[in-house]
Amino acid sequence: MAISRHRLLFLLLLLLLRAFSSLPAQAAARGASDPSGTGENFGSVLRNLLQDDPRITDELTHGYMSNSELEIAVRAVGSRCPNISRIYSIGKSVNGFSLLVIEISDKPGEKEAEPAFKFIGNVHGDEPVGREVLINLANWLCDNYLKDPLATLIVENMHLHILPTMNPDGFALRRRGNANNVDLNRDFPDQFFPINDEIDYRQPETRAIMNWVKQEHFTASASLHGGALVANYPWDGSRDQSKQYYGCPDDKTFRYMASVYSKSHYNMSLSKEFKGGITNGAFWYPIYGGMQDWNYIHGGCFELTLEISDIKWPKAAELPVIWEHNRMSMLNLAASLVKTGVHGRIFAADTGHPIPGSLTIKGIGSEIRASRTYGDYHRMLAPGENYEVIASMEGFRTKATRILLEEEAVSLDFILDPGEASGEVKMLRNDCGCLCGDDRLFHMHGAHLELYLFVFLIIIALYVLFKRRTSKFTIHRHSPRRPIAV
Ligand SMILES: [Zn+2]
Repeated sequence: MAISRHRLLFLLLLLLLRAFSSLPAQAAARGASDPSGTGENFGSVLRNLLQDDPRITDELTHGYMSNSELEIAVRAVGSRCPNISRIYSIGKSVNGFSLLVIEISDKPGEKEAEPAFKFIGNVHGDEPVGREVLINLANWLCDNYLKDPLATLIVENMHLHILPTMNPDGFALRRRGNANNVDLNRDFPDQFFPINDEIDYRQPETRAIMNWVKQEHFTASASLHGGALVANYPWDGSRDQSKQYYGCPDDKTFRYMASVYSKSHYNMSLSKEFKGGITNGAFWYPIYGGMQDWNYIHGGCFELTLEISDIKWPKAAELPVIWEHNRMSMLNLAASLVKTGVHGRIFAADTGHPIPGSLTIKGIGSEIRASRTYGDYHRMLAPGENYEVIASMEGFRTKATRILLEEEAVSLDFILDPGEASGEVKMLRNDCGCLCGDDRLFHMHGAHLELYLFVFLIIIALYVLFKRRTSKFTIHRHSPRRPIAV
């Protein structure tokens, strides 16, 4: 009885939320509410869907991979390039179709101190372009590793996870929602509607993504949609549900990432509708329960929502062109995880072991965590700025340092001393290896002074030792370096 009362309460709350919600009735690609507002049952109250498009005929689906053909294509990548790929499942759809992922890396399945990126296609069943281009992407990387510098960089320096379809049931049914007719991009916990946190009411596909994000420690990601041509970034919703620019703490970084995609695209950045081919989600039209904002808030994963085709379900003959238009964008976005941002590891000074500390940037109210295994962190940041990078961990003294982030990535390790949190500033490593601005010079001096002193003392000690030994054994031809090896 307690359970049914709980369920009743939940449904009442859903109805209340529905009453207060005012989602715009706009038939756009990230999703739209049913303009008629007639939810047929409680389960779809929050997720009124567009009517199934009767134009998706058998003729139109011709040339697209069926779900079973897609599975064969996924496994074929694994067979063709077993050394740099791994096929695994993150769960099953409502109708039992396996949600298969292709991981691409020179050490697939192994944990490394490297960033991880994920691409998710076919979130909406009636937007099938993403699943096709993602198979192309996997095959292209498989074919071009050690031939193309960008392919090699991605394979060797990061882990790329590709989920071609998140909604195979919706695809088979030629509709937006999954087998339960739920819009999966409205099914995630939402920052503005705590009611949506009810985990038991998530769809199996949504739960699979949530568990995946908790396990894999992604740095950034993108989901692929159709119906527009634009790179969309957080926030997707606004606090008062109004259509307005509502930027997240990392707005600048997100605009940079979205621009990496749009500028590398054949014509996305030339958009007449979206300046530069990018848009803030809430500015375009607010949605709630989307995957993008949840990734950023709960996974520390910088996710974009990419609309890669003006037509949701184009003729299959157009797929090769759409792939070509998006190829460099997808590669450059993934590679930006390695080429830009701040990367490093966090260690405990007393044990020397890596620790899963937190990394923040002064003035930006977001936090990412270093990995448990290697203490490595990978922080996306817009280049061309000064940043104060702060590492902290409970039971350790906080450390901070300033960097000038130019176009190239900066490496920065932290060694935290046990004790209470403090504001001590010390930079341990900065492999920027380039001409430094004033700000960086300050740190070069500050950070390396101790290192220089330490090296100097070592040299003096070795010199004294060498002098003593050489005066003792002048008849032997010992190398003066020998004592160093002892
Ligand atoms: Zn979509």
